[in-house]
Amino acid sequence: MKEFWFKTFKCPICKTLFEAPMVFSEAIKIKKRDDDLRPVYQGINAIYYGLITCPNCLFTAFEHDYDGLSKEIAGDLKDKIEKVLERAKVQYGDINLGTDRTAEDAVMLHVIAAAIYTLLNKPNRLAEIYLRLAWLYREQGNKKKELHALGRALVNFNRVYDTAEDYEQIQRCLFYMGEINRKLGKRDEAVKYFSILLSKYRSGGNSIYVRTAQLNRREI
Ligand SMILES: [Zn+2]
Repeated sequence: MKEFWFKTFKCPICKTLFEAPMVFSEAIKIKKRDDDLRPVYQGINAIYYGLITCPNCLFTAFEHDYDGLSKEIAGDLKDKIEKVLERAKVQYGDINLGTDRTAEDAVMLHVIAAAIYTLLNKPNRLAEIYLRLAWLYREQGNKKKELHALGRALVNFNRVYDTAEDYEQIQRCLFYMGEINRKLGKRDEAVKYFSILLSKYRSGGNSIYVRTAQLNRREI
């Protein structure tokens, strides 16, 4: 079975045209999920390929942001991002952007993306980047860095929750605000957010967030 295909992108910073590997959806096999829904893959780890990176300047963002960000990134903001990328190049110049990436490569890409989305001030993206970064550290067995990344994800899920309107986004925020607090040992906070989720959406039986929160709350 073919596992990868290649898609062309144009870097919003240096304007380089390049091809990035994309994983065919049929090649993604989830073996199981951790209690915070982290997918454990059989074969290719889709998280390694979830961000798009310019091979010339290392600008890194989610696929659906890549084109749209061109208009947004200008002037002072562009200068700041370029400075971050210059430092990243010195520090992480040898990241493998091919089809045989390692957890270490993926960690570096997520760290770069976190710096970029911080400058772009996009908490919804930062929440997802830090959550995935925590999962990558878990894969590497680095508990201390995992908890630190979860803490950063929590700050951003809180920010997203304050303005979230879409019910799936609200459920996802509440689930992770409960679950990350549980992982950080903050029992009262964990109970608080799981309770809001369960009382608001108890009848939404199909939601993976509601079902998992019911299970995880019993373990607090
Ligand atoms: Zn570039």
